[in-house]
Amino acid sequence: MKVVAIIPAAGTGSRVGAKIPKQYLKYNGLEVIAHTVAKFNTCREVDEIIISAMPEHFVRLSIIIRKNNFRKVKTIVEGGATRHDSVQNALTVSGCSGNDIVLVHDSVRPFVSTRLIKETINQTAKHKCAVPVLPIAETVKKISKNDFVDVTLDRSTLATAQTPQGFRADILQSSFQYAKKMKFNGTDESSIVEFAGHKVKSFPGEQSNIKITTKEDLKKFNKS
Ligand code: C5P
Repeated sequence: MKVVAIIPAAGTGSRVGAKIPKQYLKYNGLEVIAHTVAKFNTCREVDEIIISAMPEHFVRLSIIIRKNNFRKVKTIVEGGATRHDSVQNALTVSGCSGNDIVLVHDSVRPFVSTRLIKETINQTAKHKCAVPVLPIAETVKKISKNDFVDVTLDRSTLATAQTPQGFRADILQSSFQYAKKMKFNGTDESSIVEFAGHKVKSFPGEQSNIKITTKEDLKKFNKS
């Protein structure tokens, strides 16, 4: 059984408002994606890393990998129009099958801890599909098209999903095929395997494991 980390990095990151996608912006002298890949590269339980990227960033990414000596990065693949296309392209070249474990982690979550990566692997080995989640502190409302509140949801039953999300390779592969056939598009990989009828175990994520979304997020972490 091998453990492969897929890092989709083919997004344009338009919300940050920079010329290059946010995963290539720097904080503390290193690109966001370099911080992210370093966490998986140094985790002993991870065997290989595959990154999906847009072809125009292949050279930039190759330089980052070489400069930081990320030996576990097996290959860079072309990303797709959607996040799922990007992940699927990486999964196809991974050579994963059966009970191999696939971790999928956003390139823009550089603060993931080694502890959380290991916990995701353990939870996946035990439950086949596992996703780290955080409880919701605020009251959540469903808003209708005309901006009026439809209903207030019971937040005790709700959680926000993080990455890394872990899956047995065969389950993720067949779920992607099923979702494609049914034209289902979820916003994370867990939603794809849920849609295909598989049970996903949730476990506590980490407050610090934020997804960098805006320029302000980055500024907060730059040491002056
Ligand atoms: O756009 P969002 O912030 O949800 O992106 C989450 C992750 O998915 C990022 O690492 C982004 O680069 C990646 N992504 C991708 N291919 C796409 C869209 C997003 O690899 N077509």
